[in-house]
Amino acid sequence: MQPTNTLHLGNYLGALKNWVRLQDEMPCLFCVVDMHAITQEAGYGKPAELSQATREVTAAYIAAGVDPARSPIFNQGQVPEHGELAWVLNCVARLGWLDRMTQFKEKSGKHKERASVGLYTYPVLMAADILVYKATHVPVGEDQKQHLELARDIAQKFNNDFGVPDFFPQPEPVITGTATRVMSLRDGTKKMSKSDESDMSRINLTDDADAIANKIRRAKTDPLPLPASKDELKDRPEAENLINIYAALADQTRDAVIAQFAGQQFSAFKTALADLTVAKLEPINQKMRDLLADPAEIDRTLRQGAASARSIATPIMDEVKRRVGFVS
Ligand code: AMP
Repeated sequence: MQPTNTLHLGNYLGALKNWVRLQDEMPCLFCVVDMHAITQEAGYGKPAELSQATREVTAAYIAAGVDPARSPIFNQGQVPEHGELAWVLNCVARLGWLDRMTQFKEKSGKHKERASVGLYTYPVLMAADILVYKATHVPVGEDQKQHLELARDIAQKFNNDFGVPDFFPQPEPVITGTATRVMSLRDGTKKMSKSDESDMSRINLTDDADAIANKIRRAKTDPLPLPASKDELKDRPEAENLINIYAALADQTRDAVIAQFAGQQFSAFKTALADLTVAKLEPINQKMRDLLADPAEIDRTLRQGAASARSIATPIMDEVKRRVGFVS
């Protein structure tokens, strides 16, 4: 995750919560991507904010259940192999491939010529983040699938061009979770996002119980009661979103939630949802606050994580340099 603004419920249910489970299935590394953060205004030219946000994201990872003793947690800027491999991969990737990236078009907006070169080549750095560990699986949201495809193309071209057929594996997307997309509380057709102007549109991981209850109480709904079946959720994006959030937080299916609340008014459902959200987020919130009270300890965790990450990345990068022909 990028250390820019505070993390929200979408980050938790769409990403973090699933990452915690992945640790039981395979060896994992978790990176806070500060080098990606400086590609845009939100993280560029604000060193104190960037460092603070890096510590906050690290605290959120740990508070949600990522265990740094099992899975290294580190910031990208502390593992130089990411940048080193990104340069080589910049020379592997073709301009035509990057020109097709829809996220650059969305993020650069109308004034593409004013975007940083870093934002343009961001997907190549993301490929390096993955390939520098020869990672086989990457938990990505829908929005990152195109970038992962690009990482696969870059891996394949490197392997072909340097005559090492199996050097980089083809990384596979891991798409997990029941609420892969959490939508805005103010508009059920828009993703819950840290860049939304209205703070009422999202639940931040740092919100206290009152703020959570207030945001859920005031979340947009429609005048109908809760439906009795999934089919009746068609064209009711706000109702669907709240049901999805409940299901994901309670680890239940949508059908089970619908069966439980069918026919009830939203006011009653919202009370239950607020209680559940507070119960699930409060311990995370508290742990984050405890961790952030000792920033030196967070920095130690990041340094240790970086050392573990480098122990994997350095030999792979040495091999890349040898294959490319850099004299050492
Ligand atoms: P971002 O906030 O865009 O840096 O995303 C960090 C991670 O959270 C990525 O894995 C995203 O796919 C995920 N994410 C962000 N917003 C949402 C959302 N509204 N619903 C589900 N997942 C999300």
